[in-house]
Amino acid sequence: MALFYHYLTLGYLLHGIALTLLVTAYGLAGGLGAGIVLAAMQLSGQRWMAALARGYTVVFRGTPLILQMVFVYDALPHFGIRWSAVASAGVALAMNEAPFIAEILRSGIVGVDRGQVLAGRALGMPARVLMRHVVAPQAIRTMIPAFGNEAVSALKNSSLASFISVQELTLRSTQLASSTFDFFSVFFASGLFYLLLTGTVSLLQLIAERVLDLDRPMSGPARRMRGWPWLQALWPATRRAALPVPSFASSPVPATAPPATQAGGGVASNRRQRAQGLAAAPIAVEVRDLTMSYGKQCIFSALSLRVHSGEVVALLGPSGSGKSTLLRCLNRLETWDSGSVFISGRRIGMSAGGVVLSTSALARQRVEVGVGMVFQHFNLFAHLSARENIAGPLRWVHRWSAAAADARTQELLDRVGLADRADALPRHLSGGQQQRVAIARAIATRPRVLLLDEPTSALDPEMVGEVLDVIRRLASEEGLTMLISTHQLRFAEEVADRVVFLAQGSIVEDGPAHEVLHTPSHPLTSRFIRVMAAGQLSGEPA
Ligand code: ADP
Ligand code: MG
Repeated sequence: MALFYHYLTLGYLLHGIALTLLVTAYGLAGGLGAGIVLAAMQLSGQRWMAALARGYTVVFRGTPLILQMVFVYDALPHFGIRWSAVASAGVALAMNEAPFIAEILRSGIVGVDRGQVLAGRALGMPARVLMRHVVAPQAIRTMIPAFGNEAVSALKNSSLASFISVQELTLRSTQLASSTFDFFSVFFASGLFYLLLTGTVSLLQLIAERVLDLDRPMSGPARRMRGWPWLQALWPATRRAALPVPSFASSPVPATAPPATQAGGGVASNRRQRAQGLAAAPIAVEVRDLTMSYGKQCIFSALSLRVHSGEVVALLGPSGSGKSTLLRCLNRLETWDSGSVFISGRRIGMSAGGVVLSTSALARQRVEVGVGMVFQHFNLFAHLSARENIAGPLRWVHRWSAAAADARTQELLDRVGLADRADALPRHLSGGQQQRVAIARAIATRPRVLLLDEPTSALDPEMVGEVLDVIRRLASEEGLTMLISTHQLRFAEEVADRVVFLAQGSIVEDGPAHEVLHTPSHPLTSRFIRVMAAGQLSGEPA
């Protein structure tokens, strides 16, 4: 026993631990660097890059680490590349770790819900902002357990460095045991050292998981920094405050737009008056001959649509008719085969010279054009509080000062009746509350056009009303141009100026909401309304 304690404090073994840690650190740091490159290559969308990365993975995941170490240490010198034994072991371990780490990174990134990415894009986030503020914070949380595993396995694998005579813990233990013949005490001490090292890794993993646990009770300020605490620290509030506060004193709705009285619910003369005003308003959204298919399935064939500034259009159609796809096209979240989309006269996805915009230029265009989007499944950023869901994009994309973003956020949360839930995470809010936050987020920068994709169809029936109320108020108070895909016929009649019925790849009926809903002319519209109308409309369609 005395000998065992002696080995536990023996400098010879302790120095071995230092080398074990050094090789592991080289392996993990190098593996992380190379893993990021490999993951980026695979996610790049470039086939040859992905193939190259996959080829590397096949070779380095499919051959034993010991052979790789021997190769780096003994074979590379023949090609004029000569490293010390420790460096060679570190390089080989890094090359071996890289594909495993790349797969962890890739699965973390791919695992982030596509809705989160869509929402970020719709808010005008360029790829860098999207990765930094939306994808990475969520991916990292899911990757930590796998990283912990990888660190433990790298630590144990570093013992193979003994084969290229690195004096790490395993080699020193073997040497000590063969000179003292006290195998049991030496290897027991060595095993205990390994256990302490791997135990420390497990502890660090637990701490990291706890720190990043979104459900952990936190103080107010800590909760607000939850999105990306260490990166927020790199971007001091003083610097943010120095940026100009955008002014939205003037209404985005042109003066030609009619007064935003209740759109569809007024008396006939009121409706007529509004319709005349709208007809004189400029075109806010124009779709020209949009043709699109998913593989062999044709979604739109030469679809055209014009929406005037301040107009509220309800998009109806059977499930699968392309309502969501059309709304995504309007914000260039989809690409199409031919045709064009104009928002406020700007051709979406194209430069003034007719050149297809790069992803970053497209993100800039989205910000300039001003199209807000509300999704069927809310797509709030899951790791951010209600407040940060609204204020974050204002700071990151629109470069508002923290104070301006906070003030606007508070105002919007008040308006949607959620001021008391500002610090709650989306998953701690009801569906109706989440959708109200999503609407507040979409209108935070006062967009010209608001697209709402079945905003109530993912809600429990008792929550539909609260969301419809918010949209109703937006329509009557803000004078926003809105396109709403919905199955709520009564709501469409009340709020919409026009109903557009989509079926079989084109618009089969388009007219004043009241007329289309009560006296549809196309048999498909008529059948759809008959089926949907049961109990929804004030009168039966003709
Ligand atoms: P709606 O919103 O009217 O229910 P969608 O716009 O969601 O309809 O879908 C229109 C059609 O396109 C459907 O047939 C759907 O299956 C198909 N579709 C939608 N998204 C994709 C996709 N990413 N890949 C392939 N097909 C898709
Ligand atoms: Mg849909």
